[in-house]
Parts: sequence; structure tokens; C-alpha cells
Amino acid sequence: MSANFTLNGRDIIVVGGAGYIGSHVCKMIASTGGNPITFDNLSSGHAHAVKWGPFIKVDVRDRSALDIAFTDWEHVQTVVHLASSIEVGIGEKQPAEFYENNVTGALNLLNAMRKTKADQLIFSSTCAIYGETENMPLVESEPKNPFSTYGKTKLAIEHMIQSFQNAYGLNYVTLRYFNASGADAEGEIGEEHDPETHLIPIAIQSAMGSGRKMKIFGTDYDTPDGTCIRDYIHVTDIARAHIDAIRAFDQGLKTAEVNIGTGQGVSNLEILETIKRVTKLPLPYEPAPRRAGDLTRLYADAREAKSILRFEPCHSDLENIIRTAWQFHRSKKI
Ligand code: UDP
Repeated sequence: MSANFTLNGRDIIVVGGAGYIGSHVCKMIASTGGNPITFDNLSSGHAHAVKWGPFIKVDVRDRSALDIAFTDWEHVQTVVHLASSIEVGIGEKQPAEFYENNVTGALNLLNAMRKTKADQLIFSSTCAIYGETENMPLVESEPKNPFSTYGKTKLAIEHMIQSFQNAYGLNYVTLRYFNASGADAEGEIGEEHDPETHLIPIAIQSAMGSGRKMKIFGTDYDTPDGTCIRDYIHVTDIARAHIDAIRAFDQGLKTAEVNIGTGQGVSNLEILETIKRVTKLPLPYEPAPRRAGDLTRLYADAREAKSILRFEPCHSDLENIIRTAWQFHRSKKI
């Protein structure tokens, strides 16, 4: 936690700052006394989610445009990189686009940083880099064997960052997010993907009468209720982890790779039950075949983030996740 830490007017570049997690990071930077500079191409982010600092429309695939944008902000030391393609299913069908946006985009970004004073990177990685394993909770040293193109691109970027650290002295904190969820408590920003593929927003939309009957992908898993288990972490806690990383840089941290999760596994049916309880709405669902690529269970060993970054989730109890997500979806409908 970083209650007394202040960014003292510091400019921080947030690449992908118009997206779901990025906009929460920007809000957290602003509320910690900093100035978030959003770089985003708005391919999946939203201009209306950029509320706490300047916006520069730039695409990470456009190397020269990115170089110019960085040169315009050449005094900035700290960069948060969240811009990437994230829809796992699309990655399997369009790997060329995924590698170009994620891997080439990250390479362009690292090269642009080398031309300025930016020598601290906070990179948003994912638990999808670990791949198939039964070893839960997942520790950071678990072998990395991602099976989705999405996970492969994120792991390739992690390797690239490590090489840049070795050769050019880049300082970095890689945050391996588990399941980002929930929304800003003040209802200003939330999860707005199109198309939406994630469990919680789909289930809330279905409870709110989207006309779409909820499908639960796989009810025959080897878990207590037969459905998959995930580690849901509130997006405000994820945003806080970025501030904790900046503070750790200030205190001398050079490199870290940490899981950002709660350490608690929750099943898909437990999510639906909580949504029913919080919203007091019926939530009809039907069992559907397993979704390709889904692991049975995934939850973090969260101790490294606590010891290295002093990060501890405090918004991630399931009711709060569902309540804030529901509040956001309701406000969008009105
Ligand atoms: N899921 C589901 N129905 C949906 C969307 C997701 O049953 O309409 C399941 C999915 O198969 C997985 C869990 O919900 O077991 C979490 O999926 P999500 O896409 O939200 O996140 P992921 O863990 O894949 O990053």
C-alpha cells in the first residue's frame, strides 16, 4: 500500500491509457498527484475514458509516430505499457496481427524509450504466459509454456524487456495480471469491450436482460462444482499495483516480475451466484461445451508482489467486484 506516497506532479506515459485497465491506472496516477499522459490508438479504448491528463493518438505499430510522441515527452522517466490485442480467440485466427500489435508494438516502444529519458517500464503481462500446469497457486518461477497466441506474444515481450535490461539498463516491473474485474467505485470508468467475451460483464448483461442467455463453458471440470476456477482481482487494485511499482523504482528496484492476483480461486458458478445475490436479478444460464484453451484452475501465489512491491489487494472481495461492475453497467444502460 502507498497511502502517503505522492507522485508530486510527475508526468507518466500510459500507453493504452484509454482502455479498461489503462483508464483506471490513469485515474490512480492522478489521485496520487501525478499527470498521466495517455498514448492510445483508440482501436479498443475509448476517448471518453481519458479524463485525467493529455491524450495523444498514436499507434504503437507506427514506429516513426511513436518516436515523435516520445520525443515530445522526452523528460518522462516512467512508462506504463498496456496497449495490446487481448482477445484470445482472435489471436488464434489472426496471429500475424497479434504479433505485430503486441510484439512489434512493444519493440517500437522500447526503441522509442531509448531515445529519451524513459528508463523505467511497467509492463502489463498475464497469467496466460504460464500455460498448462496443475501447480496452484502459481508461483512466478513456474515454467512458461503458453499455448495461446496471446500468451506467447506476452512472453515474447517479457523476454525482449529482459534483453533490453541486460544490454541497455532498462528498469522494469512486469505485472502478470490474473482476471481483471470490477469497475471504478465512482462509476466513471469500467469494462467496455466490443465484443465482450469475459464472464462477469457477460453475466451481468444477461442478468440485466440483454436477451442473451448465459452459457457456461464446461460443467464437467474436475472442480467442486464442475466449472473452471479463476482468480478475480479488482481493476482498482491492479491500478494500485502500478503506483506501488513506481514507488519501488524510487526506492531502488531495478527489475521484478510479479503475479497480480488475490491468491483466491473462485468458480464460474460462484460468480453467477454472487451476481444473483448482489443484483437480486434472475440469471438463467445453460451448460455449454468447454471453451478451447481454458485451463481448469488458475490462481496466483500473491506473495512476491507483497514482498517486492508491498502490494496488497483491498478492493477484491467478490461482492465488491460484482457491485462495482454492476453499478457501471447500469449507468451505461440508463
Ligand atoms: N466463461 C463462460 N461463459 C462466458 C464467458 C466465459 O463460461 O460467456 C468462462 C470461461 O470459459 C472461463 C471463465 O469463464 O472458464 C473466465 O473466462 P474469461 O473469458 O472471463 O477470462 P479468462 O480466464 O479466459 O481470461
